[in-house]
Amino acid sequence: MKNVFDTFFFTEILQGLGVTMKHFFKKKVTYKYPYEDTPVFPRFRGIQYIKTDEEGVTKCVGCYLCQVVCPSECIHIVTDCGHKGQRLIRKYELDLSRCIYCGYCEEACPVDAIHMGRDYHTVDNTRDNYVVNMKTLTQNYKKEQKMAEAKGEQL
Ligand code: SF4
Ligand code: SF4
Repeated sequence: MKNVFDTFFFTEILQGLGVTMKHFFKKKVTYKYPYEDTPVFPRFRGIQYIKTDEEGVTKCVGCYLCQVVCPSECIHIVTDCGHKGQRLIRKYELDLSRCIYCGYCEEACPVDAIHMGRDYHTVDNTRDNYVVNMKTLTQNYKKEQKMAEAKGEQL
């Protein structure tokens, strides 16, 4: 008898629609990624950036500590001696495809140069593009500054 009642009055369909309508007006918990970014927690560790001074010069002094501490050996630094005896950074490369985002490089840096950012958009179709250099890492700093300013925060 119940089956006949359900068939004639579409009770199961109405029950299903009831569930749909209940959730229709609730606050959304999903995001339309990649059209919309998902929020990240304050201690999130994303793509690194390297800070620069007011003149745009990198704060990195080429001490190699980040390279030594990196457990996945994804940082590769080459330095040289300048004419005044100063250390020049000839190459600073970080392979994001090997990075495990542990944050050790940030912790080891003695001059507060390298930091874990909040950007997590690493997807690319070429392996070479995962290797970022000093120019990209300092550009990342500018991006992170803009993101922080938009949120009223300071890096
Ligand atoms: S986050 Fe960890 S794995 Fe990635 S570069 Fe820094 S030390 Fe290496
Ligand atoms: S630890 Fe800091 S200062 Fe030293 S090489 Fe790495 S980023 Fe540069």
